[in-house]
Amino acid sequence: MSNEAGFFNLSIKNIVFAGQSMLTQARIRLLYYGMFLVFVSVSAVLINVLFLHQSALVVIAASVLVIAAVLFKYLTWKADWKAVAHILLVIGTIINLSDAFLIFQKVDILTVQLVLLIIIFAFYMLGQNWGLLYSLANLLPVLLFMVYSYNNIYIIDMKPEVLEQSTIIICVIANFTLMVFIHNHFYNAFLKNIWQLKRTSEDQARLNVNLETAIEKAEKSSHAKSEFLSTMSHEIRTPLNAVIGMSNLLLMGNPRPDQLENLEILKFSANNLLAIVNDVLDFNKIESGKVVFENIRFNLMELMHNICGGQIIKANEKGLIFKLKIDDALRNRIVIGDPTRITQIIFNLVSNAIKFTRQGFVEVKVNCVEDRHNQVLIRFSVRDSGIGIERDNLKAIFEPFTQESITTTRKYGGTGLGLAIVKRLLELKGVQMEVNSKPGQGSEFAFNLDLPVATERLEEPAAKVSSSDDSDSQINHLNILVAEDNMVNTMLMKKFFSKWQVKASFAENGERAIEMMQYGNFDIVLMDLQMPVLNGFDAAMEIRKLPDSQKASIPIIALTASALTDIREKVFSSGMNDYVSKPFKPEELKQKIITLVNRKAMFNQPSA
Ligand code: ADP
Repeated sequence: MSNEAGFFNLSIKNIVFAGQSMLTQARIRLLYYGMFLVFVSVSAVLINVLFLHQSALVVIAASVLVIAAVLFKYLTWKADWKAVAHILLVIGTIINLSDAFLIFQKVDILTVQLVLLIIIFAFYMLGQNWGLLYSLANLLPVLLFMVYSYNNIYIIDMKPEVLEQSTIIICVIANFTLMVFIHNHFYNAFLKNIWQLKRTSEDQARLNVNLETAIEKAEKSSHAKSEFLSTMSHEIRTPLNAVIGMSNLLLMGNPRPDQLENLEILKFSANNLLAIVNDVLDFNKIESGKVVFENIRFNLMELMHNICGGQIIKANEKGLIFKLKIDDALRNRIVIGDPTRITQIIFNLVSNAIKFTRQGFVEVKVNCVEDRHNQVLIRFSVRDSGIGIERDNLKAIFEPFTQESITTTRKYGGTGLGLAIVKRLLELKGVQMEVNSKPGQGSEFAFNLDLPVATERLEEPAAKVSSSDDSDSQINHLNILVAEDNMVNTMLMKKFFSKWQVKASFAENGERAIEMMQYGNFDIVLMDLQMPVLNGFDAAMEIRKLPDSQKASIPIIALTASALTDIREKVFSSGMNDYVSKPFKPEELKQKIITLVNRKAMFNQPSA
């Protein structure tokens, strides 16, 4: 806290400023103005002893005056009030002691005043510990002196013997003034401090109220954003369902080659739009902390083959070599984790690798870094020989809606959300993504994931995938109940069902579906989740309560237009057996119907 000023500048403004606490300001002011009173006192004594030709006392008084002047200068120069206070207190103590024991060998009113001053001054200036120390240093010797010199009779001689009456009066007045000044000054500072504290706490309370309102507003707006996105997702996905479904239907109807090309473009664009909608939704969900990871058993090798299956075709179409290398140690290992999220991460990285590579290769590696008894540390890496990324942009590409450059956007399209989602998903698992890339030479994205290993075998072997003709024969005798309120979706499904030669009945809401269940004989229910009158979740729960056990255990597949991952738990907890995300892939729906109907038939066999 040094604040240097010019040598002849003795103003208090140099050493007291707004940033200091009230107490510090009070201490500095006390020292500054208190020194004037010290000058008055000591000068009076000096003049007096000069007239009395007390040379020893003249030297002492003059020395004290010089020291006080030096200290005053030092204070206004460096503002080191602590050091000045200590020096003053030490000098005061020496004067006090020598007054009692050496010079006058007497305790008079000035001695008493000096002791009082030192006590007050030490406490106010330097706090409790120093205050106690200086008090004891001054009080004890004086008391001892009084006890021994006066044979236990405490008489204080009011008048110092060597000094003139007028000098004594001046000193006594100056000392009392100093005492009053110290108390008055500190009481003022004390009041100001309380007032300042009160004002600070009022400010704080006001700030807290503002903060709470702001947080409330932010929460409301974030909630509104989430609601908006989820409503929009439903609204966008429903017509998209129709577009993709219709293009699937048209593709199934042996179109002419020119129509085929147009239909492929239509389907590709609709799927692209769907991917963007899903990405925005997913990012929104991650940002609002709503992501819940699953812990289910799956075959890692199988999963990797499934993820890369479609991508190999894409890479080959671009003339790229696609390599998938899986560590032998992981062959047929069943691990526990979230296959949907792992698929999402790897799919994003591989899609990018293919997208940003014009020639060369894309290599996906899965290595077992550490194989502990019930845990494996796996390193996933996706490497390509593509365009690479500038060093300076390696961080930015993980920001949402950020691509490496405008050229990337123009040339390759995309939303810039993929890597942001991947990074955040991994971070939620406490995993850091590593990137190595050189412009023109390619990139490598890698991360390590700890996965528990399942010791027991999988209970259900993966459902046998049947060929299209085979599956048609498995489905065409079925009687399906569809609960769906959307006209376009109903129309679409009617077309699929007529193609698969399936008998289907339609209910426009959940309540109607329950009614139809009571009178009809169905093999399976396809249940839309958002419906008027009674929604899909409640309708499914009501069906599970039907008195006829055969009907109550009917397989139910949820049809959901909402993002896939968060709905899963709700679907299962309301008693449904599976779900298909809209816009659904016809083959996926068909396979799920066959699997569930067959499973129910297997269950019913022994009791039949
Ligand atoms: P998008 O793929 O939609 O552009 P991403 O978030 O997946 O969004 O990627 C962000 C950016 O990172 C991309 O636009 C691209 O510039 C860069 N990038 C990602 N992967 C690669 C890669 N394998 N090679 C070169 N650049 C890449």
